[in-house]
Amino acid sequence: MRRHTEEKVAEPGAAARHTRVAIIGSGFGGLGAAIRLRRRGEEDFIIFERAADVGGTWRDNSYPGCACDVQSHLYSFSFAPNPDWTRSYSPQPEIWDYLRRCARDFGVLPHIRFRHEVRDAAWDEDAQLWRVETSEGLYTADVLVMASGALSEPRVPSLPGFENFRGKSFHSARWEHEYDLRGKRVAVIGTGASAVQFVPEIQPAVERLHIFQRTPPWVMPRTERAFTARERRLFRRFPLLQRGARAAIYAFRELFVFGFRHLRLSRLIRRVALRHLARSVPDPVLRARLTPAYDIGCKRILVSNDYLPALTRPNVELVTAGVAEVRGHSIVDGEGVERPVDAIIFGTGFRVTDQPLAGRVRGRGGATLEEVWRGSPRAHLGTTVSGFPNLFILLGPNTGLGHNSVVYMIEAQIEHFLSALDFMEQSGVAVIEPRPEAQAAFVGEVERRMEGTVWVAGRCASWYLDRTGRNSTIWPDFTWRFRRRVARLDPAEYLTGGAPGGTPRMNGKDATSKNAPS
Ligand code: NAP
Repeated sequence: MRRHTEEKVAEPGAAARHTRVAIIGSGFGGLGAAIRLRRRGEEDFIIFERAADVGGTWRDNSYPGCACDVQSHLYSFSFAPNPDWTRSYSPQPEIWDYLRRCARDFGVLPHIRFRHEVRDAAWDEDAQLWRVETSEGLYTADVLVMASGALSEPRVPSLPGFENFRGKSFHSARWEHEYDLRGKRVAVIGTGASAVQFVPEIQPAVERLHIFQRTPPWVMPRTERAFTARERRLFRRFPLLQRGARAAIYAFRELFVFGFRHLRLSRLIRRVALRHLARSVPDPVLRARLTPAYDIGCKRILVSNDYLPALTRPNVELVTAGVAEVRGHSIVDGEGVERPVDAIIFGTGFRVTDQPLAGRVRGRGGATLEEVWRGSPRAHLGTTVSGFPNLFILLGPNTGLGHNSVVYMIEAQIEHFLSALDFMEQSGVAVIEPRPEAQAAFVGEVERRMEGTVWVAGRCASWYLDRTGRNSTIWPDFTWRFRRRVARLDPAEYLTGGAPGGTPRMNGKDATSKNAPS
């Protein structure tokens, strides 16, 4: 394995820096991969980060009330427990701070190229490497890791007449903190996981709050509390205690899989949510409008104690008639009622199955992921893609979760990526890519596991479904099953190739021939 970067020529006339591994993104996925690379002694890698800081979605989502709805003891790296979480569900600034500390303490920062947006990444079949064009120049890499996350590109729907709006508007993941909401008439579009967190925060400040709800979410109570200083001292002094807490949370959350897979069992969860709704919203008319007509779990289950009560406040109105037209300073709903508004906040989610980066990553033959996927992403083990050699996608197709921590999934995928590197080094192969039949078999396996689950049989439309109607986002089973399936690489599932001229490139002995300056 090479442990140094070199100036080489990527294409005639353009100097490119070569690196063994190029990682796109510095959120949980990118940092996790980088830390694990360093821990096994690799220094020849670069992280491309388009922003000026690390953190991914936990940097970008700074809206009021932003917090994680998975407990922090679990929603953190297994190799970097943090005894100092102040609450069971940490607020965004703490999670972001945790990621920044991980980047610093594990020595990853020198590897990050900030403000480097990846514009194109193409597999060069002759040179057997990735050519990565960033906003700051060209690079080449033996291996490419896409760690750009599923929730990185805000989705803003095109509302009729929106171009005429003269007020303020922004997406929840691009919150404009300098805009003072006090005394303003505000419309919120969307009632998903983000909106239920910021609505109760802004409600006391604004003059009027119109919540445009398309589909009511299922909301569960949030059993949250602050950790005492004594508890934190104990976690610090006895790390086993924290590991025990992590394991208990993990095991409890895995139980939800029974409900998702067997709709009858989900009735229990449904009952809890209905009781929570009844307790929070005494008005039966409003309550009826807030009662979902689909099975619980079909969309992400939300956890909040203050969202539903916020909807009962006198300055809040729930609008369920949709948006018919946006005018210069108002919104007209589907029943023709016009409401003056100063600001529109989009809590409308993210481009999950149609991420722009997929249109910029080209495999063998030049086709992009977007072109190959045709609206329905597929990958072997959610991580590697046939026709895209030496590419690893963290949180790729069917690795999202409705019940547990995605950091667990990311770590399982990183294990896979590292065992691929080990395999390549040990067997002297330069190129590895999943066999099409292995990928097809895995996709078929996921589809079989998906059958009858709430995500396909739960009578709802959700962002879990892609534009072909297939669920290409969720892992439909216990997460330990995913880990067991993915963590170790089975060479029989992969096609491998050597370097041009038959010289293995990735065993650290010969790495220069194909890339030497011309
Ligand atoms: P989301 O869950 O996708 O919710 C989007 C909301 O916008 C939905 O209510 C949706 O309605 C509505 N919407 C979308 N397009 C619309 C349109 N054209 N007109 C009217 N309404 C429209 O987005 P999010 O709340 O940003 O959350 C996204 C994901 O981020 C979550 O599912 C979760 O995985 C993650 N997240 C996690 C946390 C956490 O605590 N860990 C916090 C926030 C977010 P429909 O339901 O009818 O589609």
